[in-house]
Amino acid sequence: MSPPAALMESPIAASAGLKQNVLSSGTLPVMGESQTKLLDMFGGKWDQFNFAPIRESQVSRAMTRRYFQDLDKYAESDVVIVGAGSCGLSTAYVLAKSRPNLKIAIVEANVSPGGGAWLGGQLFSAMVMRRPADAFLNELGVPYEEDLENPNYVVVKHAALFTSTLLSRVLSFPNVKLFNATSVEDLITRPSPNGNPKDTRIAGVVVNWTLVTLHHDDHSCMDPNTINAPVIISTTGHDGPFGAFSAKRLVSMSSVDKLGGMRGLDMNSAEDAIVKNTREVTKGLIIGGMELSEIDGFNRMGPTFGAMTLSGVKAAEEALKVFDERKRECAE
Ligand SMILES: Cc1cc2nc3c(=O)[nH]c(=O)nc-3n(C[C@H](O)[C@H](O)[C@H](O)COP(=O)(O)OP(=O)(O)OC[C@H]3O[C@@H](n4cnc5c(N)ncnc54)[C@H](O)[C@@H]3O)c2cc1C
Repeated sequence: MSPPAALMESPIAASAGLKQNVLSSGTLPVMGESQTKLLDMFGGKWDQFNFAPIRESQVSRAMTRRYFQDLDKYAESDVVIVGAGSCGLSTAYVLAKSRPNLKIAIVEANVSPGGGAWLGGQLFSAMVMRRPADAFLNELGVPYEEDLENPNYVVVKHAALFTSTLLSRVLSFPNVKLFNATSVEDLITRPSPNGNPKDTRIAGVVVNWTLVTLHHDDHSCMDPNTINAPVIISTTGHDGPFGAFSAKRLVSMSSVDKLGGMRGLDMNSAEDAIVKNTREVTKGLIIGGMELSEIDGFNRMGPTFGAMTLSGVKAAEEALKVFDERKRECAE
């Protein structure tokens, strides 16, 4: 089954100075050309309408059976991505598409994946991406507008169009499982042969239901679960109640001396820096997206999202570079 793709609206008059991009979605159906069959199927026949019968326990069993199969299968993953924001989802897309044989688990603390990418800046709808990140939109088939007077950026009419399309594509890959409402509470570590905490290897993540994670202070003894993987990619965003999780943990376990801390806003330097420096920060742990600004002390970039997608591309590339070696080390 091919993954669902964004529908291009019937062309509307472009706003002043902006032109609708149709190249990016040339193969997508235009609304109106492909009529829904649902009205033919259901319309005017509601009197005879019934759902197929079911017993409640069948619903419970279908759900739990599937979830427990996934827990069993992904307890040993190839890659775990922590955080399903724009960077984590972009990473998952590139990795899952390039290597369909990799078992990829995404762990997202929120019920709703997508991180900060459901809106642009100051809660406005539009999402701005600086070129060449439009290549990612073209790959997904997300339509966008171009500024006729400035070719350096493109505008997606609603950030949610990008995020929902990316999410649906990622979830359609058979080698990806998203565990949402689940927090990474800690990292699984292996000592370095030389005893230096800076050479500690990361071998997986410690997880729990987010609602449990939030209540460790007022309920005792709620032990977590684990997922092992030779490569972890952490994209938990900038510092906050949940953000910059792995960056902060690396400091508290002395693998990194201190956080660089996110600096003031400078779009030009911030986006390039985040993409270029997305890397394996410690053996087995790659950090990308805004979390990297907390480790390296890069500038914040504000509401421009190209760096998040291309940091995802770089994170996937870095993962593929080290995967075989980390997998061999894990088996030792
Ligand atoms: C309040 C706010 C402030 C912003 N400030 C800036 C800014 O200063 N600079 C800037 O460039 N952009 C900012 N943005 C824009 C935008 O949110 C980010 O640039 C972009 O979303 C970062 O993408 P990301 O994928 O790195 O992280 P995010 O979109 O933040 O995604 C991180 C994801 O990781 C999940 N997560 C976090 N910890 C854990 C954990 N332990 N276990 C599992 N999942 C976890 C979160 O729930 C989230 O879904 C801001 C957005 C908001 C809403």
